[in-house]
Amino acid sequence: MNTTIVGFPRIGKNRELKFLTERYFKKEITLDELNEGAKNLRVEHLKIQNESIDMVSVGDFSFYDGMLDTSIMLGVIPKRHRDLNLCKEDLYFAIAKGYQDGDIDVKASSMKKWFNTNYHYITPEIDDETKIELSDTKILNEFLEAKEIGIDPKAVLIGPFTFLKLAKYYGKKREIDFVKSIADAYVEIIKELAYDGCKFIQMDEPILVTDLTQDDIKIFKAIYKKILAGKPLINIILQTYFGDIRDVYRDVLKMGFNGLGLDFVEGEKTLELVNKYGMPENLCLFAGVINGKNIWKSEYSKIFALIKELMKKVKNIVLSTSCSLLHVPYTTTLEKGLSEFQLSKLSFAQEKLKELKEISTVIDTGKITEQLLENDELFKSSNNITSEVTTRISNLTDADYIRLPNRSDRVALQKDALNLPVLPTTTIGSFPQTRKVRINRSNYKSGKCTCDEYESNIKGYIKECINLQEDLGFDVLVHGEFERNDMVEFFGENLNGFIFTKFAWVQSYGTRCVKPPIIFSDVYRTKPITVDISKYAQSLSTKPVKGMLTGPITILNWSFPRADIEISQSVLQIALAIRDEVLDLEKNGIKIIQIDEAALREKLPIRKEDWNKKYLDWAIPAFRLTHSGVKPETQIHTHMCYSEFDDIIKEIDDMDADVISFEASRSSLEILKSLKDSNFETQVGPGVYDIHSPRVPSVDEIVSVINNILKVIPKEKVWVNPDCGLKTRDVKETLASLTNLIEAAKSVRAQL
Ligand code: GLN
Ligand code: ZN
Repeated sequence: MNTTIVGFPRIGKNRELKFLTERYFKKEITLDELNEGAKNLRVEHLKIQNESIDMVSVGDFSFYDGMLDTSIMLGVIPKRHRDLNLCKEDLYFAIAKGYQDGDIDVKASSMKKWFNTNYHYITPEIDDETKIELSDTKILNEFLEAKEIGIDPKAVLIGPFTFLKLAKYYGKKREIDFVKSIADAYVEIIKELAYDGCKFIQMDEPILVTDLTQDDIKIFKAIYKKILAGKPLINIILQTYFGDIRDVYRDVLKMGFNGLGLDFVEGEKTLELVNKYGMPENLCLFAGVINGKNIWKSEYSKIFALIKELMKKVKNIVLSTSCSLLHVPYTTTLEKGLSEFQLSKLSFAQEKLKELKEISTVIDTGKITEQLLENDELFKSSNNITSEVTTRISNLTDADYIRLPNRSDRVALQKDALNLPVLPTTTIGSFPQTRKVRINRSNYKSGKCTCDEYESNIKGYIKECINLQEDLGFDVLVHGEFERNDMVEFFGENLNGFIFTKFAWVQSYGTRCVKPPIIFSDVYRTKPITVDISKYAQSLSTKPVKGMLTGPITILNWSFPRADIEISQSVLQIALAIRDEVLDLEKNGIKIIQIDEAALREKLPIRKEDWNKKYLDWAIPAFRLTHSGVKPETQIHTHMCYSEFDDIIKEIDDMDADVISFEASRSSLEILKSLKDSNFETQVGPGVYDIHSPRVPSVDEIVSVINNILKVIPKEKVWVNPDCGLKTRDVKETLASLTNLIEAAKSVRAQL
């Protein structure tokens, strides 16, 4: 049985592409050097794939982002960037990152999350002047590069339908208006590839796993009708991933594709669809049986069972991954700090290639190989379960998820306990991570300073931070989070059950990579994590200082989750650990506790019908579990890094926090209106200025934002705060912005 993958990570084993590109940005290397380095990397990746799998890919490489490459290929370039008159490469990076030179300041195109992953793509911008036509053929070079080293690869393109659906439209024209031109452009590139000897083209159409309307389906069919009619003799694989294609499965079988890539991991209905409607003999199934997103070894016996079932219905099968391996780190072999046991359970991109080979060998030879026995053994042993945690979860009752008394009855009690003015002012938690803060941390990590020195420095920063907030006149203070590098990593490091890698980077966007912790086994807390620091901070002021925690859903969503238990269980374990911390903070005199859920929205399922059943129905109660045990006087805050929650507004209110702060400085009034329309009960702090920019907002500006908020939301419910943590800002601008924020709040208060 032949094997392939949907795509390979491009960033390199040691993030070579990142460093290369960043050096080019800093003008430390020339364009030729950049291209040369990238080529070496591509060749290396081709060779690595070629060792294990039958069908290697080209076209999955990108200097910044594959969607942006597709925009360039199709000539979809925003006018403001085109007008810059830059060389091809610099134009490319200008769209990705914006362009500044003297007086010229041109904004980048916006970035959006790529389906349900943590990868972000550059949104194509289309207006009524946009002409889609084949404008770049970089994929040809990559194809020929592979041929040169004796590899006959398949070429991978992001498909036209996904491209059009993800584009942002600025004029009157919509997807339907580009059907002909985009189909023509694809036919042209397919012809060129065929002319150079390419035999297989994979068209990635992940948008097919989302909820499609009848109009969408018409457009999809119209585009491919043209492409498949116009193409030369070459095999076209329609590749889907991140779910099943229930809306178009039957159509797709009849459209004339040569291959169909289906996701059997996340595609909940994929197997059912194949079983029910079968697959024509001349359509080859690219079966995504290896999880392309998680970092765990596959359970071979399960995959064999699946393939056996598929073979009853399908004649031609190629084994593949469920999606591109872009979403997993490069290789486990670099991780010298992990135990043999831990490593035995892990599988990153390079290891997944080997898994494909091992599986196909067993299928082809019918022999029980050593690897197969080893794999069976691995899944017999589960050292990951801690019985106390399991018992604690099974003892939970409905009452544990409900905080009493009701929120409306808590308001007065908290008012008395906290004695806050109207429009209380606060910040989201972190203060600028200055050089000295970072040096202190790195000295501690590298053993250059003792634990005592490290901690006493932290105390110094906290004291400065508290004094600063007192001087500025804040009502509710924070300690500044100087002990945290990252809001998830910090808790992961202090909880049992997480493991940390050294090199397991995954591309998040452009040259930025993240290294998520791995939830390896049952999560529990062995000792208080933030209590000492919070107690110390509170001892410095008579005003309330917020305890600062990261919520269970965010910890889960920004980690690699387990595969051996349901994530709805895993989140409860984390929730219980955070609950213990909440109660300890309360016991130690902390009156306000903020539990951040920055990433709640990120893992909403792709299909709307799954939002509640498959996610919110367990995620929201998990949050409530963290705080349901506190006294009525204790005020629970939460924070979210976005404001698009119109569509989950009820669920957010159901988190039953007393106060929520969120980003609103950009989309302001709409969200406020929907808060009002939904009778949102939680008190709100819609961020009054954007911390993602170094710009200092004026007093007048903030006054008018607050006044706008007060037009829609009763003053008793409104808090005044920036829209996110201040960690990435520098001290000077922070000071100026916060001074203005306080003055603005005071001036509005005076008018009330
Ligand atoms: N409390 C965190 C901070 O201020 C929240 C960060 C976030 O929302 N991403 O940094
Ligand atoms: Zn935030």
